[in-house]
Amino acid sequence: MSQLETASRQRIEAHQVSRLQLGLAQILPHNAFYREKLLQGTASPTIARLEDLASLPFTTKSELLADQEQHPLFGLNHTYPLSEYIRFHQTSGTAGHPLKILDTQESWDWWAECWTSVYQAAGVGRDDIVFLAFGFGPFIGFWSAYEGAKRLGALTVPGGTMNSLERLLVIQELGATVLVCTPSYALRLAEVAQEHGMDLRESSVRVTIHAGEPGASIPATRKRIEQAWGARTYDHTGMTEAGAFGFACSEQQGVHVIESEFIAEILDTHTDKPVTEGEEGELILTNLRRWGYPVIRYRTGDLVRHGGYGCACGRSLLLLPGGVLGRADDMLIVRGVNVYPSALANILHLFPEVIEYRVIVTKNGPLDEIALQVECPAALVPVLQERLHRDLRLRIPIEAVELGALPRFELKAKRVEDRRPHEAVSRASMKGG
Ligand SMILES: [Zn+2]
Repeated sequence: MSQLETASRQRIEAHQVSRLQLGLAQILPHNAFYREKLLQGTASPTIARLEDLASLPFTTKSELLADQEQHPLFGLNHTYPLSEYIRFHQTSGTAGHPLKILDTQESWDWWAECWTSVYQAAGVGRDDIVFLAFGFGPFIGFWSAYEGAKRLGALTVPGGTMNSLERLLVIQELGATVLVCTPSYALRLAEVAQEHGMDLRESSVRVTIHAGEPGASIPATRKRIEQAWGARTYDHTGMTEAGAFGFACSEQQGVHVIESEFIAEILDTHTDKPVTEGEEGELILTNLRRWGYPVIRYRTGDLVRHGGYGCACGRSLLLLPGGVLGRADDMLIVRGVNVYPSALANILHLFPEVIEYRVIVTKNGPLDEIALQVECPAALVPVLQERLHRDLRLRIPIEAVELGALPRFELKAKRVEDRRPHEAVSRASMKGG
């Protein structure tokens, strides 16, 4: 644990302010995007205290995309000449055009450093063998996890271009101790293992780390992964635009924000005012050492709960209980009840007989309606309905479908199918997308 992780709030904030001052001094003279946005013909903004950050404007994804459209190919959010950049990535583009992002060697090293916090909090070290079940394409995904494991001194195994069985066999052959993938894919691997008579509880994997979608912080989903793999499961939160910003500690109550490298604000979604401890709001991130591609007050669209600064693990870093709860635009309002897809996962994953499921959203007049397709025995349907009604106060129609009827996912799961008119965009919804 680094010293700053257990430091006083005063010390953490002083560190953040001085980092941001250093960053602005680099960014403002050279970064045309932020020079235009922050200076507007006036003197440099003064950030003397953390509260002063609130005087700066937000940055949005649509703004970064528009900048790229006006200034192809890469837009103007670069602090250094293009020849300094060594990595190209793009967002997955599930909700529109992908955003193209470049990193310098320095900012890429910073990504790896953030990931070492993730590994260290999960008790992963240089003696571990880390298997990354990821396609290693232009989506940043687990590329930074790969770099972080290298930096840690662990043995890294890139698990791209393999099918699920091949991945399981490599994990077995090499005796991998750490699995890194999306939570959905960890469950998919467990399903394939079962089909082939492999017992993953006997495998060498002792830690699994997940990102890309809520899951590892959803208690029932986490428990299901832990039971299938006989391992401890940790959540990680990150996004291409801002960086790898959060990790789960041994208490597994959610994720801590890496506040040495990020400033996190949690703002009320209606008023944009800071929420107080215990309340939910939108996460706004400022990254503090990715000077090659900075974001200042980036509106992530992710909903989180403010969990305060005290954790039994001893860290004084901001805690987000339950990790990323979902995205503001994921929330469904069904007969007056707010439903997040993660709440459905937390109920359905309690039942071992539920293998896979899909949420179908339709419109009944002005109201959203949802129905579920579930791979489970038909006899379970009334039990599920009763439990959903008890926990969510909603009667949800459920259709039992046969095993294998629903899609499986290697990366971000798309379990919500939106059949509402005028909203053709798939609500795949995951962050970084
Ligand atoms: Zn903790």
